[in-house]
Amino acid sequence: MTHPRTVLVAGAGIGGLAASIGLANAGFRVLVFERDPVPDVSGAGIQLSPNATRALAKLGALEALAAKSVEPEELVVSNAINRALLATMPLGRTMREKFKSPYLVCLRADLYEALARIAADHPAIELRYGSMLEDFAAHSGGVSVKTERERKSEEIAGAALIGADGIRSAVRAKLHPGTGPRHGGMSAWRATIEGNLLPQEMRGKSQVRVWLGPGAHLVHYPVGDGSRINLVAVTMERQATESWGEEVPQEEVARRFAHWDAIPRAVIETAPQYRRWSLFEAPLLSAWGRGAVTLLGDAAHGMFPFVAQGAAAALEDAVVLAETLRSAEDTDSALRAYERIRTPRTQQIQSAARNIGRIYHLPMPLSFGRDLVMKRIGGAGLMRQNAWIYSG
Ligand SMILES: Cc1cc2nc3c(=O)[nH]c(=O)nc-3n(C[C@H](O)[C@H](O)[C@H](O)COP(=O)(O)OP(=O)(O)OC[C@H]3O[C@@H](n4cnc5c(N)ncnc54)[C@H](O)[C@@H]3O)c2cc1C
Repeated sequence: MTHPRTVLVAGAGIGGLAASIGLANAGFRVLVFERDPVPDVSGAGIQLSPNATRALAKLGALEALAAKSVEPEELVVSNAINRALLATMPLGRTMREKFKSPYLVCLRADLYEALARIAADHPAIELRYGSMLEDFAAHSGGVSVKTERERKSEEIAGAALIGADGIRSAVRAKLHPGTGPRHGGMSAWRATIEGNLLPQEMRGKSQVRVWLGPGAHLVHYPVGDGSRINLVAVTMERQATESWGEEVPQEEVARRFAHWDAIPRAVIETAPQYRRWSLFEAPLLSAWGRGAVTLLGDAAHGMFPFVAQGAAAALEDAVVLAETLRSAEDTDSALRAYERIRTPRTQQIQSAARNIGRIYHLPMPLSFGRDLVMKRIGGAGLMRQNAWIYSG
């Protein structure tokens, strides 16, 4: 029998955990199925803009996370070939005052931990690691799912199924066959290093640094207690790799930046090795879900990371989903209402991320025009351009 207040969640990533907490706080019993036997917290650092920290505050996770995060003073964008300063956007107090929530940077593992701890301690949430969603069937009044754990199958009924199972979502594949992720022809190379390894000019700065070069860019910022630095370098790569987070020696990454200025090149050369992520985007869907089933996070709107919004959008989804379902009489209609709220905003963010990627990677001589515009609009212009994201 379907329990009217039981929601099933596929995936205990950032989105699945956040949704579980939101739904449990809204009075639901939540069962979360996570394929991995132990949480995968790979992926180094993450930026959390004010819209993300606002969602985290609503979920009760901000305070614990803020204690393990850095609140950088500014975001500095430079040309990676000639080192020209293009724009400086204030973060820190300016962000707090303007958007009523902080702009933080942290380790993904700390974000995961903050959410996982709340979920594990919540009496209404059951987290089942090593439990893979195999199949599901929606019917009038709810949904039945089939899961596999230690080679044993189980069937469970619930009032709704939330597919928070990432960019290669099985829930999405069944609802919308043929809409799997599209490779963007790019890879991200990630590493975390000790801050004292940075070139002298870059040490001890409370900054998110962005370096733009033809067909490539580099982002670095302090994480944890501020003594470690997260590096993300992005290059154009025709071929996607099968593995997620494959380890690669530094030389293989550094040779792609041989034509860059000595300082950003030296930053790249500090890491002994990198992990590689081929970058994918989820094609747009006109409707995310059907009946008692919906999607959340990357499963719904996987995006390129160039506006640092994938996890932020998943956190926003979670808050809206919980608010929409809280007092709903009819679950299916509430899920459609959630999708109507979230679809336009997430499509707009996906598109912004795509466009920013193109602008970041402009070849010469087009990059001269970009640099002129960036210098003219400066940090205030960047802030104006992104305000709709941060205030959402
Ligand atoms: C290089 C890079 C940098 C980024 N930087 C930022 C940033 O600065 N700020 C930001 O906001 N975002 C950033 N992102 C994006 C962010 O990491 C993702 O958008 C976010 O992690 C998505 O969360 P999710 O919960 O939707 O998916 P995931 O984190 O992928 O979680 C999905 C979960 O579902 C599980 N699962 C899959 N299939 C099944 C199944 N069949 N049954 C059960 N469980 C299943 C998986 O094991 C996984 O745990 C970045 C991404 C990249 C690649």
